[in-house]
Amino acid sequence: NNNNEVYSVSSDRLISGNNNVVDSSSQENADIFKVLRGNFKLETFRQNQLEAINATLQRKDVFVLMPTGGGKSLCYQLPAVLDNIRTNKVTIVISPLLSLIQDQIQRLNHLKIHALELQGDHDINRRNLVFHELEKSAPTLVLLYLTPEMLNRSNRVMDLIQSLHRRGRLARFVIDEAHCVSQWGHDFRPDYKDLGQLKVKFPNIPMIALTATATARVKEDVIHNLSMKHCEIFIQGFNRSNLIYQVWNKSKNVDTQIGNFIRSHYLRETGIIYCTSKASCEDVAQMLCKKGLNAAYYHAGLDKRDRQRIQEDWHSNKVRIIVATTAFGMGIDKPNVRYVIHYSLPQSLEGYYQETGRAGRDGKKSNLRRMLKYCENKYDCRRQQILAYFGELFNSNQCRKTCDNCEMAATARIIEFDATDVAKEIIRLVDRNKHADVTSNQFISMMKTENSKNFASIVQRKHLVLPPEFKPSTLSKDQLDKLIKTMILQEFLLEQNQPNNQGYITSYIKVGIKSNDLLRGKETITLKMIS
Ligand code: ADP
Ligand code: MG
Repeated sequence: NNNNEVYSVSSDRLISGNNNVVDSSSQENADIFKVLRGNFKLETFRQNQLEAINATLQRKDVFVLMPTGGGKSLCYQLPAVLDNIRTNKVTIVISPLLSLIQDQIQRLNHLKIHALELQGDHDINRRNLVFHELEKSAPTLVLLYLTPEMLNRSNRVMDLIQSLHRRGRLARFVIDEAHCVSQWGHDFRPDYKDLGQLKVKFPNIPMIALTATATARVKEDVIHNLSMKHCEIFIQGFNRSNLIYQVWNKSKNVDTQIGNFIRSHYLRETGIIYCTSKASCEDVAQMLCKKGLNAAYYHAGLDKRDRQRIQEDWHSNKVRIIVATTAFGMGIDKPNVRYVIHYSLPQSLEGYYQETGRAGRDGKKSNLRRMLKYCENKYDCRRQQILAYFGELFNSNQCRKTCDNCEMAATARIIEFDATDVAKEIIRLVDRNKHADVTSNQFISMMKTENSKNFASIVQRKHLVLPPEFKPSTLSKDQLDKLIKTMILQEFLLEQNQPNNQGYITSYIKVGIKSNDLLRGKETITLKMIS
């Protein structure tokens, strides 16, 4: 069964950036832009950054949802700088991981923005240094980073924040990775939930919560648990309009296909090819090198120094193509990646989205079925399918032929027909033969009442029978194949994978849990075909 033999490509298309419309006549915005250029060395804002900054500077509670790498940090770091310049206020940032905190502090120090952290295993001198900074009557410390545990468990820390507050030096609370507040999020942390106490103790101090992962339910939960009031919500869509999505059928000459793709479009450009196993990383990299392309492999089996060297070579464009497992991805922030190829089926749509977007978070839940459905779907807009997974409605008109399906739909004629009756016939046939292990192709042969010698012997060996009043199908074999795949995805049929003695896997078709709904007329099934 080579259904799974799909890989996908997403590539970068240059588009002109959407410039923020800014009323720079206002003093506030003039100051904001001054800090953006002077302190952060950036020129323009990305979607929603300026809006969120304005809202939090107006002391409103703010919720920001942006994809990983979208630029959430600036939404609170820029106001923090401004508030410290103006009134020597300190911004308190709650972040779940020490590594994230250290990464942020390093970046800030690099920009010469004064930021410190307080953590449990620092020695007393180092902690006193931080306390000393905060006890100053006009602190020059811009940002103080804490884990939620530190805030909840240390009286000294809470006393200090209260003292800042009394002296009018407390700017705002920042809750980074705010999905940790919600039990519905994938990283629930009880100590995050206790952050609700901040609004009780400091009702007038503005709060800004930021996350990359929030369904509607998580968002509500976060706002509720943190007791944020009249919260302004900024949601940046997950659509990556500058990517092109394509799913290719993996054929025998896939290596040549990939080689040609890179050679003809991206010879001097940078790309990533994801493979699922270490061995295939090495094979594919070797294959590309043989074709004269500049590739290296990267996986967890390499020692740390080699991995570092390969990353550096890739960053400095010495190596153009990295063939890697998903171990390669964390913290990758290379601006000129032009294409991402998944050589094998990605583990989940979430992982696929992250990897195609080069953002570094692993898909936690395995939803292979969704991924298969995505690949098998040759009709619906790719963006619409991906974004629907994140709870976002996307109008496929907006895709403008930047995925293979929309491009196809623009040129081909798609016919849609009701296949419910044939589907019922298939279910009856499968049910009638449930004693035997029968493959999809064998059922298709039965639907067509094929009478080759070869097939007759299978029928005899497996004791296959047709149900009473059976009507052979007028659909083509291809159409029946497509129908059966669709029925599996909708759980009218079930695909059972069994390894044989040699370890090869064969898929047998059984009745699915929803088959009765179809038989009883509660559900119907339509089939789309390219004519
Ligand atoms: P996240 O949303 O995942 O927290 P970060 O705040 O860490 O993302 O930002 C990711 C990258 O985007 C950083 O390298 C940052 O410098 C860059 N970035 C953020 N805002 C802008 C901007 N307005 N212009 C250019 N680069 C930006
Ligand atoms: Mg972040």
